[in-house]
Amino acid sequence: MVNKATGLPDSLLRLIENFKRFPGIGQRTAQRLAFFILKSPSNYIKELSDSIVKIKEVIRFCKICNNLSDEELCGVCDNPARDKSVICVVEEPGDVIAVEKTGRFSGLYHVLLGALSPLDGIGPEELKIKELLSRVREKKPKEIIIATNPDTEGETTALYLAKVLKPFNIKVTRIGYGIPVGAELEYTDHATLLKAIDSRRELT
Ligand code: ZN
Repeated sequence: MVNKATGLPDSLLRLIENFKRFPGIGQRTAQRLAFFILKSPSNYIKELSDSIVKIKEVIRFCKICNNLSDEELCGVCDNPARDKSVICVVEEPGDVIAVEKTGRFSGLYHVLLGALSPLDGIGPEELKIKELLSRVREKKPKEIIIATNPDTEGETTALYLAKVLKPFNIKVTRIGYGIPVGAELEYTDHATLLKAIDSRRELT
């Protein structure tokens, strides 16, 4: 059926509405994507939809660090060669990939799966902070490197973590030097991120 208000078929509107739920996708981009799908060959569309369904079946969060994995433990936690005395705290699994690419870090990670954002209703309970504190309590690492994004939410999260980690009397450091304010770690270039890790400073 064609929708009277838009002149577009209902099935196409449904696809556009679904694309609009993606992060950063507005009406125009959603429409472009829907038309791209419409013009694409059927075998590609089948491959695309299969890969979307499959990812929900196979990929899960690592039991220890919340990194993406297709096993109970991710490749980092499962690697005996990693330095267990350092934990790098990041917001998203994409940040793990970015830090791994620098080749500078050989410790473990803890993925918070977000950042504190009171305005959006994201408080400490919504993030994997409780899990981080349990890890610190049990495993007693020597250093926690806070590598949340250098934006308002990331800085708020870093300050909050520094506060709740204080009673553990371990070294808590923050990367950030050289990363432009408002940037996202995941999209920070290799050299800048490398410098940021090397020049981390201790939070008091
Ligand atoms: Zn892991």
